[in-house]
Amino acid sequence: MKSAVARAAIELPNTVCQAEAIGVELARARIIVRGVVQGVGFRPFIYRLANDYELKGWVLNSTEGVVIEVEGLTNRLQEFIADITLQAPPLAVIEGVESSTLPPVGYQSFIIQASQEQEDKFVLISPDICLCPDCLRELFDPSDRRYRYPFINCTNCGPRFTIIKDIPYDRPKTTMAAFQMCPDCEEEYHNPNDRRFHAQPDACPTCGPRVWLVKGRTTGDSFAKGDDAITEARHLLNRGAIVAVKGLGGFHLACDATNSAAISLLQERKGRVNKAFAIMSLDCRVVERYCHVSDEERQLLESPQRPIVLLRRKTESPISALVAPNNNNLGVMLPYTPLHYLLLERRGDETDTPALVMTSGNMSEEPIAIGNEEALERLGTLADAFLLHDRDIYVRCDDTVTRVFDGKEAIIRRSRGYVPFPVRLNFEMKQILACGAELKNTFCLTRDNYAFLSQHIGDMENLETLDTFESGLEHFKRLFRVLPEVIAYDLHPEYLATKYTLELKRNGAEQLPSGVQFVPVQHHHAHIASCLAENGVMEPVIGVAFDGTGYGEDGQIWGGEFLVGDFQHFKRRAYLKYVVLPGGEAAIRKPYRMALSYLFNLPTALTSGLNLFDRTDPGELQIIRRQIERRINSPLTSSCGRLFDAVSSLLGICDVITYEGQAAIELEMLAEEGVEDGYHWPLPRGKFPIIIDAKPVLGDIIRDLKAAVPITVISAKFHNAVAEMVSGVCCLIRERDGLSKVALSGGVFQNLRLLRRTLSHLRRKGFETYIHHQVPCNDGGIALGQAVIANAKVTSPKLRRRSYVLSGAG
Ligand SMILES: [Zn+2]
Ligand SMILES: [Zn+2]
Repeated sequence: MKSAVARAAIELPNTVCQAEAIGVELARARIIVRGVVQGVGFRPFIYRLANDYELKGWVLNSTEGVVIEVEGLTNRLQEFIADITLQAPPLAVIEGVESSTLPPVGYQSFIIQASQEQEDKFVLISPDICLCPDCLRELFDPSDRRYRYPFINCTNCGPRFTIIKDIPYDRPKTTMAAFQMCPDCEEEYHNPNDRRFHAQPDACPTCGPRVWLVKGRTTGDSFAKGDDAITEARHLLNRGAIVAVKGLGGFHLACDATNSAAISLLQERKGRVNKAFAIMSLDCRVVERYCHVSDEERQLLESPQRPIVLLRRKTESPISALVAPNNNNLGVMLPYTPLHYLLLERRGDETDTPALVMTSGNMSEEPIAIGNEEALERLGTLADAFLLHDRDIYVRCDDTVTRVFDGKEAIIRRSRGYVPFPVRLNFEMKQILACGAELKNTFCLTRDNYAFLSQHIGDMENLETLDTFESGLEHFKRLFRVLPEVIAYDLHPEYLATKYTLELKRNGAEQLPSGVQFVPVQHHHAHIASCLAENGVMEPVIGVAFDGTGYGEDGQIWGGEFLVGDFQHFKRRAYLKYVVLPGGEAAIRKPYRMALSYLFNLPTALTSGLNLFDRTDPGELQIIRRQIERRINSPLTSSCGRLFDAVSSLLGICDVITYEGQAAIELEMLAEEGVEDGYHWPLPRGKFPIIIDAKPVLGDIIRDLKAAVPITVISAKFHNAVAEMVSGVCCLIRERDGLSKVALSGGVFQNLRLLRRTLSHLRRKGFETYIHHQVPCNDGGIALGQAVIANAKVTSPKLRRRSYVLSGAG
C-alpha cells in the first residue's frame, strides 16, 4: 500500500565519481538532504553514521533541509553518502541528496550544530506519528523510568505537526518549549547513541507534561492526577459516562461503544442523531471481533498514520447499533498516543470494553476543541469528565478517514498523520493559494512540485471555522514559506472561502504581494482537475463529476456533470436535466421535497396513491407546488446527489437528513447484493450538450414500488441504471471528441456500489479510468483542483487551443 512515508528515489550525487577519481585521499563533502528530514531523528542518524565511517565535521537543520559537512577518506565519504538514503530512519522521506566536493579544512570531531534559518527556504514537516513499538514496550515495562507515562515518545514517534509553531523544527519552536528537561532527559537528548537523541518532544514523569481528570461542569479543579486520573476515567467510561479526552490534534468525546444508553446520551448532547461515530480498539485482534479486516485494511489500521478506516461490520457484534445507524460500515482506528493505550489496555480487574467511541470534541460542525479552557467551556454540556493535560496543541487536526477500494487506499478525509505531507505533482507549480469549497473545506498551497493540502478545516458555515481557516492558512504560509502569487477560489458567491477571497481582492492590498492574480474556478472542473493532478494525467479527458451542490457557470446548481477538458479548459458535454430545488437549502435538508419536485413532473395517473403524498403535510405540499410553479427561492439543479436523495425518500428510506449525504448513504446500504439488471435509461443522440432526463427511470421505480418489489431490489436496480447511464454517455462523448480516458470525481462516488459498477462498465467499453486515492473525491479535494487549474490558466495565458475541445456545438 502506498503511504505518505513512501520513499522517493534519488540520484546518487556525482561527488561519488569525483571522490573515486581522487582515490583514498582526504576530502570534504558538503551535502544537503531534502525531504521529511526534520523531527524524524535524522541528525542523530547522521551523527552515528559519520562516527561509523570515522568522518569529522558537522550536521545542522536549516530551512533548506539537513546540511552536512564531512571530511575523511574519499572512499568512506562515498559509502557515507550512499548510506544516507539506504539506512535513513523509518520516518524520513528523502526527496533528494545533493553534494559537492571541497578541499579539507581539518575538522577534529563531528558535532551537531545549532539550526540555521533562511527566509525563503522550506523543509517538509513530518505529520504526527503514532507511538512506536519501542516506546510501547517501555510504556508497559515496570522497570522503565517512563512506565505508564502518557507522553512517552522518541525520535521515531510522537507529536510533530500539531506542536510545531515554526521551522526549523527545534524544541523552542514547539509547544514543548514550556517544559525544562530534567538531567536524565537532558542526558538522553545529548547522547548520540540514545533513541531519544535530539527528540524534541522528549519528556518523562519528572519533567514533562502531566495528565489530570476534571469532573462535571466544575471550574477545573483536578479530581485525580497521573495514573489515578486514567484509572478513574476508565471507571467512568465503564459506568456509561462521556469523557472528553485531550489527544494529539484536539479533544475526543469518548464513551463505551457497547453501551447504547451512553451513546444515545452522546447523540442527544452532541445534536447528532444518525451520523456514525468512529470507534477505537486496542488492536486488530479486537477489531476482528466485530468487523471484517482484509490484509490491506490491517496495514492501514496499523500504519504509523493511524487513520480511521471504514470496515464492513459483522452481523454479530458487541458494538451498539447506535454507533453507526443504518450503515453496514464502522469507522475504526487503533490507539495512536500512549494515553490511548493506557485507556484501552487489558486489565485483569474489570470488564474491558472492546471499543470506545472516539468522536471529535465539538458540537456538530464546529471546529474540534484544542485548549483546556476552551474544552471546559465548549464541551461543558457534552462531557461528564475531562481527561486533560498540559502539552498544548498548537494546530487543530481531526482524525483522517480512509478506506480500501480495489486493494488500494481511497481517502475520505485527509488530516492527522497525513497532513502536512504534500501531494507530489509531476510538474512545477507557481506559488498558489487555493481556498477550497464550503463543505469539508481544506485549502491548498503550492510551490515547486508540491501541493500542501491543509488538514480538514470543516464546514465553513460559522465564524469559528473561518477563524480556523485563516489561522491555519497563516501557519502553512509560514511553515512552507509560500507567498501566493495566485489565489484560486470557487465561483459560488455565498461560500465563506469565496467571500474571504473577494474581500482580500478588495481590501487586502497590504497583506498581498503586488500583482497577485485572482482566478475563479468552476466547482466540478476543480473536482476533475484534482483527480487528474493526483493521477499525473495532463491530457484532455472526459470528467464525470457527480456531487450534491456546485455553482455552475450559468448560475444554477450543478452536480450531475460530464465535462471534457484538461487543467486549462473544460466544456460541459452532458448533464442531468434541471429540476427545481424547492426552497433551496430546505430541499437539501428534506429529501422528500426533492422527491416531490421529480414527481410533479410525472403524470398524475402514475404518481397518484404514492405513500409519499400521505407522509407530507397537505399545507406544505401546497407550498412546494407553488414554489415549483413560481420558482420562489427555488433554483434549478442538475445535481446527482439530489437525484439519489429523491429516490431515497420515494422509497421511504430517508425523508429528512440529519447529516450531509445521509439519504444517499442509506439508499446505498440497502441495495441488494447480486441484483444484476437495472432500469433502462434512454439517452438522446446527436445533440450536445446531452440532457439526461431521469423521468423514465423514476417512472419505472414507481411502477416497481406499486408492484411491491422490495426496496432493496429497487435500490440495486437504480444504482445499476446510473452506472450504465454513465458509461453510455461517455461512449457518446467519445464518439464526438475521441477521448477515451475517464476521470470520476465528486462526493457521489464515495458510494462504492456505484463506483465499482461504473468502473466495470467503463472498462468493459474500453475506457481508461481514473479515480481518487490520495485526495478525497468529495469537496475535501477541491482545493488541489483549483490550484492546478489556476496554475495552468496563469502560466499559459495564450490559449493552447485544442480543436476537439473548443470547436463545434456545446
Ligand atoms: Zn518511540
Ligand atoms: Zn525528564
